[in-house]
Amino acid sequence: MPSQRRGSTLPSMLAKLGAMTSIRELQLVEQSLLRTLAPLLGVAETSLYRTNEHHQVTHKLHHYRSDKRGPDGAASTTERIDDIRNDASVPPHISALLDYMRLLKQPSRRTHGQGYLFGYPLIHGGGQQCGYFVFEREQDLTPVEEAVIAGVLKLYTNHYTLLDTSQRDRLTGLRNRYSLELNLDRLWEELAAQQAPGADAPQQAYWLGILDIDHFKRVNDQYGHIIGDEILLLVARLLGRTLRRADLLYRYGGEEFIAVVVAPDLAGATALFERLRLAIEQFTFPQVGRVTISGGFCSATPTLLPGTVLDRADRALYQAKAAGRNRVLHYDALISQGILDEVECGTIELF
Ligand code: GH3
Ligand code: MG
Ligand code: MG
Repeated sequence: MPSQRRGSTLPSMLAKLGAMTSIRELQLVEQSLLRTLAPLLGVAETSLYRTNEHHQVTHKLHHYRSDKRGPDGAASTTERIDDIRNDASVPPHISALLDYMRLLKQPSRRTHGQGYLFGYPLIHGGGQQCGYFVFEREQDLTPVEEAVIAGVLKLYTNHYTLLDTSQRDRLTGLRNRYSLELNLDRLWEELAAQQAPGADAPQQAYWLGILDIDHFKRVNDQYGHIIGDEILLLVARLLGRTLRRADLLYRYGGEEFIAVVVAPDLAGATALFERLRLAIEQFTFPQVGRVTISGGFCSATPTLLPGTVLDRADRALYQAKAAGRNRVLHYDALISQGILDEVECGTIELF
C-alpha cells in the first residue's frame, strides 16, 4: 500500500468495513470481505474457501476486479463474484497451501509463478478453523498490509460468528427459523434467476419438506424433558447425516424440522425424504427405543410465495399425521388423489 494512496484508501476501507458489519446475511458478509480486501491489496482476484468440521472445502467464493479507463480517461472498476457450492475441487497448489494452514493454523506465503501465493486461515469464535482467505500477488506484503489483513479478517470473523450464533438453534446447532427466513428470500431469487428465459445455469429442482416427530409429547411425558432434548438432538444429527452437502436443514419449531433439498425430479425427492424417515425409524434411541417422524413436502417453485410452499408442505404433513404417522407425503399427489383441494387455506404467517 504505497503511502500516497493510503490517505484515500483509509476512508474507503472504513466505509467498506461499515458496510460489511451492517450485513445480516452470512453469505453476503463473505462477499463483502472479498470486496473490502481486494482493492486494498491491489489484486485482481481473491478467494475464500469455506470448510466444514472435517476440513473439507464446502464452498468457494472468487472475487474478480479490473480497473479500466474509458475513452474519456475516467477510471472505472468492474467486479464479479463467483459463488460455487456444488464443486469442492481445489487446484493442487491451493490445496497444498490449505493443508499447510490447516496443520499450522497460521498464515502462509509461498512463491508462485512471478510472485507469491498468500493464505490466511479464518478462525471463528471458539477457535475452530472454518475457511481460508487466499490471493496471489506479484509483490510481497509490507508489515502494514499484513496488519491490515489480520485486522480486517478478525473483524470479519467476529461479525460472522455473532451472526452465525444468532442464526443457529442452541440445542441442535441447526439453522433456526430466523435463518430460514433469510435463506428463503435468497433461494427464491436464485430459483427465479435460474428459470428466467436465457438463464444458462443448469436447472436445479428444489423441494421443501416439513418433518415432525410423532407423539413427541408422550416422550416428554413418559421420560422427561432431558431425554426429550436428547431425542431432538439425535433426530437432528440423523437427519443432517442423511442429507447431502447441498441440502439445508433447519429447526423450524419445537420438534419440527424443515429440509430444503436438491433433487432432479419427484422420484429423487421422494427417495430422499423416504431415506430421512427411515433413518429415524431404524435407529434405536437410548431408553426410548423407537421414534418416528411424519412429513409433507412439495416442490419449491419461484412462481409461488415461500409462505405458500410452506403451507403446502404443512398441509401434506397434516395428512401424513391423519393417515397414521411415520410417513412422508407429497402435496401434489394428495391434490391429484382428491385428498386435498387446491384452495390455499390461508398461507402460514411465516415471520
Ligand atoms: P404429533 O404426532 O401429532 O406431532 O404429536 P406430538 O405430541 O409430537 O405433537 P404436539 O404438538 O402435541 O407436541 C409437541 C411437543 O414437543 C410438545 C412439547 O413439549 C415438545 N417440545 C417442543 N420443543 C421441545 C424442546 O425443545 N424440548 C423438549 N424436550 N420438548 C419439546
Ligand atoms: Mg409439531
Ligand atoms: Mg409432533
